[in-house]
Amino acid sequence: MTGPPAPLRGATGPFGLVLAAGMGKAFKNRRGDGRRGASRHGGTPMFECTIAGSLPKPAWLAEPNRLWPQWRCTGEELAAAKADATLLALKEQEDAGIDVVTDGEMSRQHFVHGFLERVEGVDFARKVEMGIRNDRYRAMVPTVTGPLRLKGRVHAAEAQLARAHTRRRLKFTLPGPMTIVDTLADRYYGDRVKLAMTFAALLNEEARALEADGVDVIQFDEPAFNVYMDAVRDWGIEALHRAAEGLACTTAVHICYGYGIQANIAWKATLGGEWRQYEQIFPALAASRIHQVSVECRNARVPLGLLGLLSGKDVLLGVIDVATEAVETPEDIVETIAAATKYVPKERIFPCTNCGMAPMRRDVAQAKLRALGQGAALARQMLR
Ligand code: ZN
Repeated sequence: MTGPPAPLRGATGPFGLVLAAGMGKAFKNRRGDGRRGASRHGGTPMFECTIAGSLPKPAWLAEPNRLWPQWRCTGEELAAAKADATLLALKEQEDAGIDVVTDGEMSRQHFVHGFLERVEGVDFARKVEMGIRNDRYRAMVPTVTGPLRLKGRVHAAEAQLARAHTRRRLKFTLPGPMTIVDTLADRYYGDRVKLAMTFAALLNEEARALEADGVDVIQFDEPAFNVYMDAVRDWGIEALHRAAEGLACTTAVHICYGYGIQANIAWKATLGGEWRQYEQIFPALAASRIHQVSVECRNARVPLGLLGLLSGKDVLLGVIDVATEAVETPEDIVETIAAATKYVPKERIFPCTNCGMAPMRRDVAQAKLRALGQGAALARQMLR
């Protein structure tokens, strides 16, 4: 198999003109997210939309509607199927009008274990059942049995393939250090913080390589951030900084109340009428060097006023609920955006999904993707 074609690094200019690679740079700001100057909408970019990261895998790639699905094939056949699914994910996002696209996480079985599979010192033959996210649900997790190091690149194939096949800005997601240490067993380091910092260094290695591949935004997924609030302030942000060290591209952190699986729905029911967990961590995130914060807002009991605590950050505003099959209307999306504009400057709002859509029905996820694109477009007209 030959490698992917050379990455197309052009940007899309006004009137949909595709700019040549060199010219595209003129439209990139220093953070490399291309937000300054021309946008494909013309004028000042506003309400550009993106997704948290994952999309459902096609049934020919992996078992549908599962969080830890089994692959349908192996070896070269699997590699080819992952590549095909990645192209479909890009095409579906582009057609839906998503501005900052992802690979849909087609190449990883799970958002954490996809990274861990490429880490030496993590033994997948020694899986143990463990309560994760403060015992919210049980999962079979691998064990750290020795010094950790990367076996090589983790996501080179899908990042380079995606970069070669879309001219949109490309976001790539990695699990955050705190969430990683909460999703495996440790029989070697014996210290959660030390383990997290070790993973942060490995994440940084891969993140720098992804940036070199032409990725515009690197997002760390930290659903553990609203579970261990004290730890976020004590070492969670520091670990994120280590993971993002030296990156010139835009950086983001995704925090949320989890996928729409039953254990999460039951947990949310115990959190009361107002979810104020973010109140404890937003000030620390606002003071951090991470540029963007992705939060769940649609059908969430997060008081939107808390978003005001993220002053100075872009907010990837969750306007699509991933815990229900009911598809939002574009008007629903405008409503969530309008409510957020009371607390976040318009130019800092990026409509997004609440969380990954990996375990959803594919037709529902596709409909929600289209709603997101349409809702963001409608918001651009109505909320100028
Ligand atoms: Zn999430």
